[in-house]
Amino acid sequence: MLWGNVTPFQVDKLWSQVVHYYIDKKKMSKEEANKIAAAIVKKEIEKNTCQNITCRHLKSKHIEHLKQCLVDTCPCSKFIKKI
Ligand SMILES: [Zn+2]
Ligand SMILES: [Zn+2]
Repeated sequence: MLWGNVTPFQVDKLWSQVVHYYIDKKKMSKEEANKIAAAIVKKEIEKNTCQNITCRHLKSKHIEHLKQCLVDTCPCSKFIKKI
């Protein structure tokens, strides 16, 4: 499964919302809407992923006030905010 690791971030929900939007409002074909959804979801995942290359976990796995990653084995002790 392509998005196997991204449970906290609701990919399925976002995906279907985007697809419906483009089909209903923009009158696109299902294939076109799916292509757009794939691009949007990929961008969202990137945006929600820690930029620390030793980490690369979702930011939802970080404890914000401690600036720590919740994944036990992860060496990431701070996450870079660059949005
Ligand atoms: Zn991490
Ligand atoms: Zn991190």
